[in-house]
Amino acid sequence: MRIVSGIQPTGNLHLGNYLGAIKQWVAMQDAMGPDDTCLFFLADLHALSQPVVAAELHANTVEMAATLLACGIDPARSILFNQARVPAHTELNWLLSGTARMGWLNRMTQWKDKAGKSGETQSVALFTYPVLQAADVLLYKATHVPVGHDQKQHLELARDIATKFNGDFGVDLFPLPEPLISKAAPRIMSLRDGSVKMSKSDPSDASRINLIDSDDVIAGKLRKAKSDADVLPETVAGLEGRAEALNLVTIYAALAGVKPDAVLAEHAGKGFGAFKPALADLAIATLAPVRDRLTALLGDRPAVAAALAHGAAKATALAAPTLRAAQEAVGLHL
Ligand code: ATP
Ligand code: MG
Repeated sequence: MRIVSGIQPTGNLHLGNYLGAIKQWVAMQDAMGPDDTCLFFLADLHALSQPVVAAELHANTVEMAATLLACGIDPARSILFNQARVPAHTELNWLLSGTARMGWLNRMTQWKDKAGKSGETQSVALFTYPVLQAADVLLYKATHVPVGHDQKQHLELARDIATKFNGDFGVDLFPLPEPLISKAAPRIMSLRDGSVKMSKSDPSDASRINLIDSDDVIAGKLRKAKSDADVLPETVAGLEGRAEALNLVTIYAALAGVKPDAVLAEHAGKGFGAFKPALADLAIATLAPVRDRLTALLGDRPAVAAALAHGAAKATALAAPTLRAAQEAVGLHL
């Protein structure tokens, strides 16, 4: 198995990002066999599809890398790098741009959602970035790509591009990557409103637990988290219509690595006056080591840059034969 996955570099990651995305990557890394490879990259090139401030993009990339390392991505076992340091991504992107059709990109629902009526004022990169995404995974002959529902269509596009490229040039170069949809990934909701997801763009800091929050801040936010006056039921079915209660049980379960029903089996009959302190203890026990590693890494940015450079060298070596074969397939081997 060869797994390739990217994440846009943004700062200020929260518990939802950790439980819903990064922890899944760490689980994939930990489940790897001797013939498997995990490549995780910071999609700094994709960030250019929206207006950027250079200093912010740079800082966010370092912070995201530090966060992934702090959460347990191990550069000795996984290949962790930033896209911009592996030029083969942009080179293959251009070859695949000759294969992808305008009509295919026009049909991408993310483009249609973001472009508005005509897309006149959007960047060209916003329109073509699904082709770069195809290059990101095909470059490494990925067999599996973890995707959320919003990215499934882009993976389909990558498969279409691979099929057409192989067919047009009579090669068997690119395997078709399969989606890897993690059933374990929970969706964490806001601590203030159980009907909206925890998000870094929520104006209320009390709505989320940031990975950089101190123990006291974590405990305080959970103490003030919206809940209700009922006791916890025996099973999840009993939480119907209690979105905030369900969210706190979901967070507990995800932190403990167990099913929500197992949490309820242990805490049924308790009210939130008793459950919240238990949740806070668990959250602090889990997140404090992550925060402490993150703080140390943010104080040692050269170490983070060195880890990324190490990953970029490994990714470049892995990409080289595929890029060369793609160049030869289209006649660019002079
Ligand atoms: P924004 O509000 O700017 O969209 P965000 O908080 O949604 O930010 P993203 O950068 O969009 O974060 O997402 C990064 C990753 O974290 C994605 O894989 C996304 O699916 C996951 N993720 C984000 N929020 C949650 C959440 N509340 N629960 C579970 N997973 C989440
Ligand atoms: Mg988001």
